[in-house]
Amino acid sequence: MKRRPFIKQIFQVSGVAWLGAELPLMYGYSPRDKDKKLGVALVGLGNYASGQLAPALLETTHCYLAGIVTGTKAKEADWSKKYNIPEKNIYNYKNFDAIADNKDIDIVYIVLPNSMHAEYTIRAAKAGKHVICEKPMATSVEDCKKMITACKDAGKKLSIGYRLHFDPFNEQMMLLGQNRVFGEMNMESGFAFNLSDPNRWRIKKSMAGGGPLMDLGIYCLQGCIYTFGELPVSLWAKDLTKNHDFFDEVEGTIEWEMTFPSGKAYCITSYEDRYGYITANTEKGEMKLSPAFIYNGLKGSTPDGPMTVKPVNQQAVQIDAFAINILKNTPTLVPGEMGLRDNYIIEKIYESAAKQGAEVSLKDIPNILDLRKD
Ligand code: NAD
Repeated sequence: MKRRPFIKQIFQVSGVAWLGAELPLMYGYSPRDKDKKLGVALVGLGNYASGQLAPALLETTHCYLAGIVTGTKAKEADWSKKYNIPEKNIYNYKNFDAIADNKDIDIVYIVLPNSMHAEYTIRAAKAGKHVICEKPMATSVEDCKKMITACKDAGKKLSIGYRLHFDPFNEQMMLLGQNRVFGEMNMESGFAFNLSDPNRWRIKKSMAGGGPLMDLGIYCLQGCIYTFGELPVSLWAKDLTKNHDFFDEVEGTIEWEMTFPSGKAYCITSYEDRYGYITANTEKGEMKLSPAFIYNGLKGSTPDGPMTVKPVNQQAVQIDAFAINILKNTPTLVPGEMGLRDNYIIEKIYESAAKQGAEVSLKDIPNILDLRKD
């Protein structure tokens, strides 16, 4: 049986619900292999950690929330009570390095403002812990390199918080796109939300490293890469900020277009609007996710009709997958090298935008892809 029709047949009949539900089998690991659950410590108890990651860690099979790192005293008692965390597993930013002596903690999950990712990833690695670092991996390629080296030197695994690689809707985009089930394509993607609080670290260059591109646009560039299953070779970008008074340190809106070996991808991201989609315009018609990047309520369609996939808790599957990587000593789908690749593209987007949309080569792009062809 030829590869493309066979893959298409699988999707039409059953969707890809099995990808999330049967993750342990896909990784060749059964929960019966080992009774130990790995302990995770969350560093930075802000919106994402409290709203998504901690609740997800109640749903994981191979790991659990064992510790916290916070600079806010009041959060200690709240979290300790809510998640049954013993006092010995509660750290602050000063005594964080003592986590090295804590056998309950196997994985440190960095959920701090972007500019702090590098320091805490490196400190966690030096403390002998595996690390998940939120996106964007860092605010510069240089920092990404240091983070990778620190984890390698410590013999520890490093994964980036790219939850959508574990989301069945986005996985279907990867599989259908990479296998060109509907033929060749060009892509469009946009992600935006309105940000109006001037005190948020997200609009301070020193804390965020950039504006919506670092925060939201990274999903668009990721989505186009994993749907094409190719690395972009060049790009152009233009700053489209509307409110320069408010966005005086970072861009408010930015557009860019990436050229891939087999097509183009136009992307836009903004803190001055609201949208979230990824579209592949294929030879057979439109393949689309909209909304594409949120935690739940995603919707997808293909030229053959609506995507029928079973949603999962993206964060629970993502963190469990990393725990399995550690338990089985297998590589993560979303390693530090992928975070570096994306920071490299982001730097090139800013370089082009600074030159009013000049074409910029991506000849030094790290060669890393999440391929789902097999
Ligand atoms: P947030 O502002 O809600 O939380 C940041 C946390 O860092 C807070 O608890 C804050 O107290 C702490 N912190 C420590 N030192 C700080 C300092 N000097 N200045 C500001 N805060 C400091 O932010 P968030 O939305 O939780 O985002 C945190 C990270 O997670 C970011 O890197 C972001 O990109 C990422 N994130 C990822 C996703 C995803 O879907 N993967 C979603 C949201 C956020």
